[in-house]
Amino acid sequence: MPARRAGGGLAGGDGLNDKPIENLPMMPQRPAAPAGAPTVYIETYGCQMNVYDSAAIAALLGRAGLARGDDPLTADIVLINTCSVRDHAEHKVLSRVGELRRDREEAGRRPAVMGILGCMAERLGEALTGERQRIDVVVGVDRYESLPGILTAALAGSGGAGSAVVTGHRDDAHYVAPPQLYPQNGSHLVTIHKGCDYRCTYCIVPYTRGPQREKAPAAILDEVRAVVAAGGQEVTLLGQNVTAYRWRGELDFAGLLTQVARVDGLARIRFLTGHPRDMHERLMDVIGAEPKVCPGLHVPGQCGSDRVLARMKRRYTRAEYLHMVAYARRVVPDVTISGDIIVGFPGETEEDFAQTLSLVREVGYDNLFCYTYSERPGAPAVRLGDDVPADTKKRRLAEVMALQDEVWQAIAAAQVGQTWSAVAEEPARRTEGAWRLRTLNNRKILAPLAAGVPGRTYRVRVDGFRNTSFFGTAV
Ligand code: SF4
Repeated sequence: MPARRAGGGLAGGDGLNDKPIENLPMMPQRPAAPAGAPTVYIETYGCQMNVYDSAAIAALLGRAGLARGDDPLTADIVLINTCSVRDHAEHKVLSRVGELRRDREEAGRRPAVMGILGCMAERLGEALTGERQRIDVVVGVDRYESLPGILTAALAGSGGAGSAVVTGHRDDAHYVAPPQLYPQNGSHLVTIHKGCDYRCTYCIVPYTRGPQREKAPAAILDEVRAVVAAGGQEVTLLGQNVTAYRWRGELDFAGLLTQVARVDGLARIRFLTGHPRDMHERLMDVIGAEPKVCPGLHVPGQCGSDRVLARMKRRYTRAEYLHMVAYARRVVPDVTISGDIIVGFPGETEEDFAQTLSLVREVGYDNLFCYTYSERPGAPAVRLGDDVPADTKKRRLAEVMALQDEVWQAIAAAQVGQTWSAVAEEPARRTEGAWRLRTLNNRKILAPLAAGVPGRTYRVRVDGFRNTSFFGTAV
């Protein structure tokens, strides 16, 4: 995994990004759709929550008799599951819609029923059905169960642009049924809650995903048991802010981890994304003591200056963040820390930025996602004004990334000669005979395996690293 990644402008979400996600590795459709059934192509952008939702939507539509289509040029219905976390992410989706329309026209295909799902649907709603965008179906994150009916109507011509906009948050923790089981890099995604109550001032997520609503522990455990029954060994517990999980005052995230760890046959538990405020000592004690919980912690610090952290409403101080990191290193064996940094938040001075640089140096991140701040309409920070000049943001982004490279080189060099346990994920695409493996603490290594088996653990000696990847030899 890269030691650092850059983003053009983050406007919300911890551990979220706006990268288009390659077409999902979905399981074969069961039961198979009837011959001649209309086909649905789904393209996914954003975070792992969208990956999970897209798979659940595909399963829902499959049960409603629609067939999965792999080609946006021939599918009867094209759905795009979207991200609003950055302005850039939204523009990308809109230009993708235009591109798909043009490609179909040039290929002599009739127009597809075009749908926008997810955060953009929630944020923009009706606006997407206007003359300019001409989207037929707009369905928000809490309303996917309405899709089969809406799409059937749209196919029959009784829908029409502007007639199918279903958005708005539900009070209950309603979930579409879990997806057919599928692994992402060998790990099965299990969403444990929706939304977020924290309202960090730069973030649009609480407004697009709504307030935090938990999935019942029994439902989570059923999903995990189903993963194991289907041969899976690893789950990734997912949520906007998983460490804030709290079921009716009875069970918090530490308790949930303990219960999930008791599922027989499950080998590994990962989770995304943790909030530093909720990464309290008792939780870290559980993570450190439970061998099934992987010790790779993603805890976005976002900034090293207390003044800016307060303006971001992050609910922790720099000292508290550093204490959390130090405690994790004390009680969680082999722990690695990854995080997110935003530069150029409104009012960020050179002194504030220097504090961020010193935080990055002090923490020693394995992996850092770095972004420049950009405004999102509707997020509270808009009121603060976007007053850091673009070239200053750009320069600070370059500086923090250069520093992270330096930090990473030192961390990586110290690994050479060590022997790791790592789980085989898949054959490497470019190196014949090599496999991609991942350690429990989330480091990636390439090593030749004679007859690699996905999900099996191997001992691998680290021979070196190139840029941001390790390579080694199975021992
Ligand atoms: S904690 Fe919630 S409000 Fe804050 S960045 Fe994460 S998703 Fe956004």
